[in-house]
Amino acid sequence: MTKGNINVSVENIFPLIKKFLYSDHEIFLRELISNATDATLKLKHLSTLGDAKVEYGNPKIEVKVDKKGKKLHVIDQGIGMTAEEVEKYINQIAFSGAEEFLDKYKDSAKDSGIIGHFGLGFYSAFMVAKKVEIITKSYTDAPAAHWTCDGSPEFSLTEAKKTDRGTEIILHIDDESKEFLEESKIRELLLKYNKFMPIPIKFGTKEINDPDFEPKTITDKDGKETKEPHKKITVDNIINNPTPAWTKQPTDLKDEDYKDFYRELYPMQFEEPLFHIHLNVDYPFNLTGILYFPKMTGELNIQRDKIQLYQNQVFVTDNVEGIVPEFLTMLRGVIDSPDIPLNVSRSYLQADGAVKKISSYITRKVADKLKSLFNNNREDFEAKWNDIKIVIEYGMLSEEKFFEKADAFALYPSVDGKYYTYDELYNKIKANQTDKDDKLVILYASDKDAQHSYIEAAKAKGYEVLLLDSPIVSHLMQKLETSKEKISFARVDADHIDKLIKKEDTTISKLSEEQTKELDELLKELIPSEKFSVQLEAMDSDASPFMITQPEFMRRMKE
Ligand code: ADP
Ligand code: MG
Repeated sequence: MTKGNINVSVENIFPLIKKFLYSDHEIFLRELISNATDATLKLKHLSTLGDAKVEYGNPKIEVKVDKKGKKLHVIDQGIGMTAEEVEKYINQIAFSGAEEFLDKYKDSAKDSGIIGHFGLGFYSAFMVAKKVEIITKSYTDAPAAHWTCDGSPEFSLTEAKKTDRGTEIILHIDDESKEFLEESKIRELLLKYNKFMPIPIKFGTKEINDPDFEPKTITDKDGKETKEPHKKITVDNIINNPTPAWTKQPTDLKDEDYKDFYRELYPMQFEEPLFHIHLNVDYPFNLTGILYFPKMTGELNIQRDKIQLYQNQVFVTDNVEGIVPEFLTMLRGVIDSPDIPLNVSRSYLQADGAVKKISSYITRKVADKLKSLFNNNREDFEAKWNDIKIVIEYGMLSEEKFFEKADAFALYPSVDGKYYTYDELYNKIKANQTDKDDKLVILYASDKDAQHSYIEAAKAKGYEVLLLDSPIVSHLMQKLETSKEKISFARVDADHIDKLIKKEDTTISKLSEEQTKELDELLKELIPSEKFSVQLEAMDSDASPFMITQPEFMRRMKE
């Protein structure tokens, strides 16, 4: 038996760990399962290298709650540790074995998916446990080891009887952390953090119909036929999907697979996504993921915590602020990258070079996807426009790169349901507005019903009227006006229309001169002239004998 002191410079590090290591105590389970996963993946790696005389088999990780004994067990069938390795990897706090492994097998281990690199994860067990035991048997011939530590810097290390390869971690849960002895709590945590981890995780068992059993038809004495009851068998309850869609190649997935995965991510979401984007890059950083465009109807303040961030299939957070450009946080899905620094502040994240590259890569991918959807099936794209425009318009306003790219697919619908790109619009109105030597003017409405008479009047004059009704479109128009300088936008009920209408186009008023004068005076009394102007002669539709307009700048002030 060895006794000794854990190699740290502070007198007692455990109170510090409890307080400061992670603000969220529940992540201890994520850390232990990450270690169990790493241990299993290391074994897999060695067996593929032919380094070890190991039978890899179908290893799994098991989590067991012993409520009576106040213990929680995490058991793996991975690489295990010798007593020396326990001394080295466990006793030297912050000496990360994972990093050493990656160093040693640098190039071949790069893609092995190993998670650990802080060298502190194991000690997070002391956030919830008053005593921790490790019983471990290395894949080598070395005898098994049993390490115990009760939260003081003292530990004991003895030989153990364990004969099968792998590691069992036993947490003696402390009284303040009793919640972690509830099966429901552990299940919740496993589903939150480990739902897509690469090694199967067993949590209890479940009864299922025996797939090999064919129920016979039984005929009773009255000649009635019934089916024999199905035979039940007990199987491991595996709580995770070790090969989620984002880890596969896009070419191996059908549209239905993406939809299935969407349902797996959001079981309570009944609406299907409009389309998906599969992210897959390995240079200059590693990133995989799938983003989905859900149906979005005009609302800007929709939930923005629907994209989940993973690191090597371990859930990290659903706050992707700073990693995904803000306008894309309206999307859903997952992003997985080992290259995103995790335990650092948001402000650091935003300044980090790798993160900036990731953010602009995602923006580019989304823009490319939208462009190809537009090019491949414009009709379908137009049909979806109303549900996606808010993201695109918001993106055009907030990301210069996206603004440039969106030129190819951003649409401007007319009140009659025709859709134009900016260039198409320009070419269309250019032909009609030969008298304009500065900017061309396009009329738009934001409410088809309320502005009906103005729309009709403009159409009667041969003007195309756009229907731009999303909550941020007025800002977008301003941006288009200042940065593209080809077209200016005027509300169909603004006084602008007056200037557009060429004199020779104007039809003669249906009122006599006298009537016109009378009405004019009456309206001037009724309507404050500093805010509105009244035009009697401009209208030619029967529905509207006159028109009240407001200067464009006043309109925008209100928006
Ligand atoms: P990290 O995972 O960042 O390396 P940890 O504190 O989580 O740091 O773990 C320290 C080291 O202890 C690991 O790198 C590994 O060498 C060893 N270890 C921890 N858990 C296991 C396990 N279940 N099986 C084998 N080795 C383990
Ligand atoms: Mg770890």
